[in-house]
Amino acid sequence: MTELISLWVITIVAIALFCTTAEKRIGALLLGQSASPYDKPCKRLKGVIEYAFLQKRLFRDSYAGFYHFLIFWGFVFLAFRGWQNIIEGLFPKSNLLSFLGIYGNYYQAIRDVFVILVLLGVFLALIRRIFIKPERVENSIDAFATLTFIGLLMLSDLFYDSTTILISKPDWASFTPFSNLFSSLFSNYSDSSLVTINTTAHWINILTFLGFLNFLPYSKHFHIFTSLFNVYFRNLDEAKNIRKVDLESEHFGISKMNDFTWKEMLDFYTCTECGRCKEGCPTSLTDKPLKPKDYGNDLRDLLYSMSQEEIEGKVEIDEEKQIIGKIVPHDSIWACTTCRYCEWACPLFINFVPKIVGHRSYLTLEESNFPQEAQTAFKGMERQGNPWNLPRADRMNWAERLDVRHISEVEGKKYLLWVGCAGAYEESQKRVTRALVKILNEANVNFGILGEEESCTGDVARRLGNEYLFSALAEQNIETIKQYNVSKIITACPHCLNTLKVDYKDYGANFDVVHAVTFIKQLIKEGRLKFKKGIDKSVTFHDPCYLSRYEGDVDSARFIMNSIPSLKLNEMKWSKEKSICCGAGGGRFWLEEKIGERINHFRFKQILETGSKCALVSCPFCHTMLDNARGELNKEEIEVKDILEIVVQALEEE
Ligand code: SF4
Ligand code: SF4
Repeated sequence: MTELISLWVITIVAIALFCTTAEKRIGALLLGQSASPYDKPCKRLKGVIEYAFLQKRLFRDSYAGFYHFLIFWGFVFLAFRGWQNIIEGLFPKSNLLSFLGIYGNYYQAIRDVFVILVLLGVFLALIRRIFIKPERVENSIDAFATLTFIGLLMLSDLFYDSTTILISKPDWASFTPFSNLFSSLFSNYSDSSLVTINTTAHWINILTFLGFLNFLPYSKHFHIFTSLFNVYFRNLDEAKNIRKVDLESEHFGISKMNDFTWKEMLDFYTCTECGRCKEGCPTSLTDKPLKPKDYGNDLRDLLYSMSQEEIEGKVEIDEEKQIIGKIVPHDSIWACTTCRYCEWACPLFINFVPKIVGHRSYLTLEESNFPQEAQTAFKGMERQGNPWNLPRADRMNWAERLDVRHISEVEGKKYLLWVGCAGAYEESQKRVTRALVKILNEANVNFGILGEEESCTGDVARRLGNEYLFSALAEQNIETIKQYNVSKIITACPHCLNTLKVDYKDYGANFDVVHAVTFIKQLIKEGRLKFKKGIDKSVTFHDPCYLSRYEGDVDSARFIMNSIPSLKLNEMKWSKEKSICCGAGGGRFWLEEKIGERINHFRFKQILETGSKCALVSCPFCHTMLDNARGELNKEEIEVKDILEIVVQALEEE
């Protein structure tokens, strides 16, 4: 009787404690800004199956994916077992399995296998943490405590079932090969010893289960509860990861906890601290203070430590709890290149870019507190329509002696060649623009340009937090483009591509935009471009973040390279979607880089590791950054070229 009363008291206290914590966690989410990730339920559910149940992203690392898969599915089955043990303990005459009839035996069979598989998963996880220990993995008490909880749950289950088989010979005994095998260890034990082991295992199982239930909301393994929701409510349009700032509002961007949306707060809860996000994060790799995992975890810890009034901003917040400048230092806010490696790598679809750009919006729009170097770019965009602040009248200099028409002179189904500021003003990129014109002419593409009517897309302004300037540029460009009724926009700049195609949706445009390499791949496939000359070179290719991770195109450039006779592609280890940023994105091209190793040097060294003497790119900013690194590292023997320059060479007669 004492045992039963104790179990009732422990269970009620444990469940009450859990509910109190859960209420606090859910209550905090309700204080966040609204978000509406409720569209396309079928697509969302499909993602839950693929990414949460089948754990597709985790299998990018097959070892970790395998053991995590075992542990996850073990949990799905064994959560029922935990409650079964508790209910049968609280109501000693109940037998939940008997309700299931023959299916109860099948359930026992599956559970029996999963106990062993989860134990195998725990073993593999321990081996990895203790002996293999990849750089991204940080051993913490939390991680070992969780594995201990899981191990104890499985072992106590095994002891309980195998002794039950010997004590009461249940119907399901013939369905559980592993418990049967394990029971042979106790075949010589007396009845009283078996009962003692059985009762002890039962208690250990229940106490571990209830303890684990209360440990989870304080640990990184809280994701066991939140990950399904986080995957369901994920951002479906991954390229669209900047929040439009309401310019009518009195407060801009993110400076307080309740400036985050509830979904962004759910991101904080969901982080498993696996470290995948920082593996290819350029700021983490070059010793800058911004490490995406730490950013999210610091904000999560802050959120846990805040009262409801503090989250709502109804009371004065201590200096120690200020987000801007304290929890997230200014150097972290301005370091991000918005490359999206972290978001691509995260198995649970946690977003970073919208949060970091949200901090920038606050600093730029509300405090006018941004790196002074950005001022030149802002002024240039405002006055001359380009961040170089070069005369608008010079925008067409690149086209001297070239036969290229203004879009208004082009009849019929027409394409707009979007030159971009780099394509118009940067020396190295002017060559690329000319190359693109030659390629389009060779394939008889009916295209025109906007000339001096084209202005900067505003990519840099938006990513440096200046939504005022961005909105002015966006509205002006949208109005100009709409006049000419173009069927498609072609550009050699992945940043222009993303801004025109994705960001401009916030301002009512829905342009069909394509990167030059994607378009050229199509022209080759249609037989409209034929290479006449081989290029006998071994090259490597640097995938630009805004083409690979934002646009999702890693194939077109490779298709083109493989189509050019004699050209040999030598891949970098960190290529395609795993490409490491050159350091220019997110407006960083215009800012000084004072902390840690220069990102373009870091990336250039990875190019050197391939042994290739030529690095191909398909973005004007990557082009300049890697070309600068080449000079600064005294590697003049290495060429940095845009892939379009090679295409033009291969199109020329021998
Ligand atoms: S977007 Fe890129 S630079 Fe910014 S935190 Fe993520 S990985 Fe790091
Ligand atoms: S944010 Fe995602 S990738 Fe980064 S540590 Fe957390 S779960 Fe892992």
